[in-house]
Amino acid sequence: MPAFTPIKSVDYLVVHCSATPATRDIGRKELDIMHRQRGFMGIGYHYVIRRSGVVEKGRPDNQPGAHVEGFNSRSLGICMVGGTKPDGKTAECNFTPEQYAALRTLLGTLSEAHPKVEVVGHRDLSPDKNKDKVISPNEWLKECPTFDAPSWWAGYQVVHQAHA
Ligand SMILES: [Zn+2]
Repeated sequence: MPAFTPIKSVDYLVVHCSATPATRDIGRKELDIMHRQRGFMGIGYHYVIRRSGVVEKGRPDNQPGAHVEGFNSRSLGICMVGGTKPDGKTAECNFTPEQYAALRTLLGTLSEAHPKVEVVGHRDLSPDKNKDKVISPNEWLKECPTFDAPSWWAGYQVVHQAHA
């Protein structure tokens, strides 16, 4: 018997960052160690996009991740390596062109596999404290992934369709 309830439907593709400086070239292996140290059953993400743009596989897609409270049973987590200034704390959007290209390809593949899926950033799933149905910056639990993933993805698709 598996030690988890398999994901039934994937409603969200959640973009994260590893919250590490641009100079730290880490990947699946290092994140797996970091997450085990935090008590998870191994890496919490389903995919990792390294600084080079190489995509590494984390958890199997049918296994709930450990990446966003309240949504793990109906989402897949994708981690862009980077996201902080050299201090390792202050948020900084510092991803490489290769990472954005890899993210486009990966989101394209996953949204074909799960046609109703919504692309969001981790911060977009923060609690809507004032219930206005908009997650505004003062409601973000954290800045992860440090960029507006839904707008970035929507903008890419508009451009892509116009050129198709
Ligand atoms: Zn995150």
